[in-house]
Amino acid sequence: MTKDAEDFMDENRRWVCTRCTACCRMVSDILPDLDRGDGVCSNLGLNGKCLIYEDRPAVCRVENFPATEKQKASACAAMYNIVFGHH
Ligand code: SF4
Ligand code: SF4
Repeated sequence: MTKDAEDFMDENRRWVCTRCTACCRMVSDILPDLDRGDGVCSNLGLNGKCLIYEDRPAVCRVENFPATEKQKASACAAMYNIVFGHH
């Protein structure tokens, strides 16, 4: 099951994090020091929540990215499909 950008936008077409955890499961290139060995961030809790949320790296703060709402939603959809799309 794959998703598209619309799945990561609210009714006002604003990007929204669905807490799908995809971005936290492909950190080998972006946050190699946090990679627990399989591409998953060592700070990702079993409940899907970030264990260091208040202190998470800048790269994890998607809301601050200099991108449009659609671009952020598209990026989340792409990551989701890479991580979960084949299952
Ligand atoms: S991929 Fe996007 S929607 Fe999923 S957890 Fe990361 S920021 Fe949130
Ligand atoms: S630090 Fe937190 S938000 Fe950033 S990738 Fe790891 S679990 Fe996800």
